[in-house]
Amino acid sequence: IEPIHVIGGGMAGSEAAWQAAEAGVPVILHEMRPVTGTFAHRTDGLAEMVCSNSFRSDDDENNAVGLLHWEMRAGGGLVMAMADAHALPAGGALAVDRDPFSAAVTAKLEAHPLIRIERGEIAALPPADWSSVIVATGPLTSPALAEAIRGLTDERALTFFDAIAPIVHFDSIDLSKAWFQSRYDKGETEAERTAYLNCPMDRDQYEAFIDALLAADRAEFREGETDTPYFDGCLPIEVMAARGRDTLRFGPMKPVGLTNPHAPEKKPYAVVQLRRDNALGTLFNIVGFQTKMKYGAQTEVLRMIPGLGNAAFARLGGIHRNTFLNSPRLLDDRLRLRAEPRLRFAGQITGVEGYVESAAMGLLAGRIAAAERLGRDLPPPPETTAMGSLVRHITGGADAKTFQPMNVNFGLFPPLDAVRGGRRGRRERYKGYTDRAKADFTGWLALSTASAAAV
Ligand code: FAD
Repeated sequence: IEPIHVIGGGMAGSEAAWQAAEAGVPVILHEMRPVTGTFAHRTDGLAEMVCSNSFRSDDDENNAVGLLHWEMRAGGGLVMAMADAHALPAGGALAVDRDPFSAAVTAKLEAHPLIRIERGEIAALPPADWSSVIVATGPLTSPALAEAIRGLTDERALTFFDAIAPIVHFDSIDLSKAWFQSRYDKGETEAERTAYLNCPMDRDQYEAFIDALLAADRAEFREGETDTPYFDGCLPIEVMAARGRDTLRFGPMKPVGLTNPHAPEKKPYAVVQLRRDNALGTLFNIVGFQTKMKYGAQTEVLRMIPGLGNAAFARLGGIHRNTFLNSPRLLDDRLRLRAEPRLRFAGQITGVEGYVESAAMGLLAGRIAAAERLGRDLPPPPETTAMGSLVRHITGGADAKTFQPMNVNFGLFPPLDAVRGGRRGRRERYKGYTDRAKADFTGWLALSTASAAAV
């Protein structure tokens, strides 16, 4: 069998190599470290955790990332197995002893009879005779390879910076204060008319909001994070506010073209707009609100916005150095580049965010690529699962025009069937999501395993 080439031995590439090899397909794993480094990696180990040592919540009944842990364990994930073997006490979270973890992943991959590891940068598009490639080079993909990938797509297809605006669960927004309307009532269909939600502020509320923004704790930029030409186009809101108290009122918070149906006679002094973030309509992002405020401060300041007093956040805002594709436009649901299907992508470069999400996309890419090598077609897991909801979001559910990296969260899941007697409580809803996901993921795993065994 011809090998699969995996480029990048981080969270995603390590997992992809393992899954493909376990399915019986030979793998050549190309990792550029230690020959070439990045500004964040310190070692030459595979699956290095570059910053925090946490895989976040391990609760698989009430938390979407905990559910993703469960699915990866069920799928024989190497990253999860080694994280479990090197877990540190951390309450409900899965904290990991990073160096022994990375050493264990490296040793497992080195010892696998079907895996060969080659150290060195792939600095151009893979040679034409590599007929199956998984690109898993992460947020710090080497510049030469990034440029080559960009050349294969187009200018706007690969971004070197994320500018993440906070994302709110729709069902936590107070519609007695906020209202649906697009500016100047643009849009003809129902979906277009419900694409924007508006939260009005009077003068006192605006001034108090600006004071809070200016006083909020911020995270510092790291070395290498602000040296891209795209940075000026996505200034954090607190930086805009510091340039002048009215800057936001004439920028992302301008109140024009909108009428508040809750108080039609009163013109708002400023308006915060939220835009629908996924096709399901369960998530809304706050338009233009990329920020470096620390998470605690961010939640407090954003809840000052009328209508968001009880907001539940699917993810908070941030700005980072991050190389990622416009996956909704470029990738199919098997994670292949539409323009050149021999190239498959996995990990953070696909527009997921985080160690666990990246490893999960590696697991999928490895299994799907192996099935393909063995002459089978393996569809992604159903979107009722954590892995399936994430891959569906990045390859189609998210709006390509505003696509930014995403963590797994229950807002990506199709809502549960209605229950008699109205809404479920939060715990009951989360349990409903996780029970459904476990059953559906188990079914997909059987399909996935049968597809390998059938050959
Ligand atoms: P990586 O784990 O980065 O792996 C990519 C690999 O590809 C690297 O080993 C790299 O050396 C290699 N590579 C790159 N280019 C080439 C090439 N041309 N040829 C060969 N090899 C190449 N996530 C969290 O969950 N928690 C955090 O605290 C966190 N902190 C972060 C801090 C920083 C500074 C950065 C940049 C990211 C952080 N992330 C964090 C996101 C984190 O990078 C990802 O979650 C995760 O590591 C991504 O996995 P990956 O496999 O896609 O990429």
